Amino acid sequence: MTSSYSDGTRVVHAGLPEPEVGEPFLPGPVFAAPYHLDPVTGPGENGYARTEHPTRRSLEAAIDELEGGPALVFASGQAAITALLLAVLHTGDTVALPSDGYFAVRAFAEGTLRNLGVQTMLVPTAGPYPDFSGVRLVLLETPANPGLDVCDIASVAALAHAAGALVAVDNTTATPLGQNPLALGADVVVASGTKALTGHSDILLGYVATNDDAVFEKVETWRKQTGAVPGAFDSWLAHRSLATLDLRLARQTANAAAVAALLASRADVTGVRWPGLESDPSYTVASKQMRRIPGVVSFDLGDAGRVARFLQATALVFAATSFGGVHTSADRRAQWGDDTSDGFVRLSCGIEDTADLLADLTAALDEA
Ligand SMILES: *Cc1c(COP(=O)(O)O)cnc(C)c1O
Repeated sequence: MTSSYSDGTRVVHAGLPEPEVGEPFLPGPVFAAPYHLDPVTGPGENGYARTEHPTRRSLEAAIDELEGGPALVFASGQAAITALLLAVLHTGDTVALPSDGYFAVRAFAEGTLRNLGVQTMLVPTAGPYPDFSGVRLVLLETPANPGLDVCDIASVAALAHAAGALVAVDNTTATPLGQNPLALGADVVVASGTKALTGHSDILLGYVATNDDAVFEKVETWRKQTGAVPGAFDSWLAHRSLATLDLRLARQTANAAAVAALLASRADVTGVRWPGLESDPSYTVASKQMRRIPGVVSFDLGDAGRVARFLQATALVFAATSFGGVHTSADRRAQWGDDTSDGFVRLSCGIEDTADLLADLTAALDEA
């Protein structure tokens, strides 16, 4: 699908095979571990599913079209991110990670990577940025989860490249319809497809996408040897869900704009963050770099008790971790040991009717 089409068209057609009479638009999941081999010539396109899988290949073709680089899908976002880290880092290397990004990546660095002799440098997403000399890989996460700071991918990538580092961007929160890190100068995109990309809160998925052939080959070999592949049904569900990505994000962004304005107008809510709010510290960079602002808003209700009363009072907001799904959900991050204050809430706007959501949030905040 050529990129001259707009987002809504691209996601509907991404990764679909050429039309064939009598065949479905999106072929169903192929359930196989081994496939029939040619008794004389052996393996053809498909030999064994850990290495070759047609349903996975279709999904990868779709992600390749949307990110602008060949993709490898994984069983989860963590499987994808740790695959990249372990495939490119060696003993004695230093990796730069966001100090305010997804906590499980830092935990992995402080445990497994440290044990392998890989040093970690923690860098805040909004800067200031250090000298990256001697750093092998710089991983950025923008907007950062859960604080929603944004970094200028092109300028940080230029800094990192000047120091000889590879640059990867975690594109989970933005999705490829929100920004294309490869076009902005990153070497690699990593992401969790569990969140807005697939958007129904029903599967785990991750991917690595890159135009760097050497990195692609290392990560592909890593996946083949460790086996962290998604199953056929999850791959198919993910591909099926992609068709509505543009519609889902459009409503989530509209809901987030309305919710952020509502929260910012209330004296009993502090620290409202949404990169689409003109008053937000990330507004200028986000407006320049992003094609749309995600549906995630963060704010502070002061203490854990008030967050609990808010969650009990709401009829439409599910108490849940994760984000990006069609159902609005909210998570008090401190309950997971995240480095956030006790009343900090990450609210993920779903695709409900905007007026219903605003009325429900207003009533629940009044009651709490
Ligand atoms: C959720 C998330 C991950 C991890 O993804 P899983 O699919 O849960 O393994 C990584 N990075 C970010 C920014 C995330 O939000």
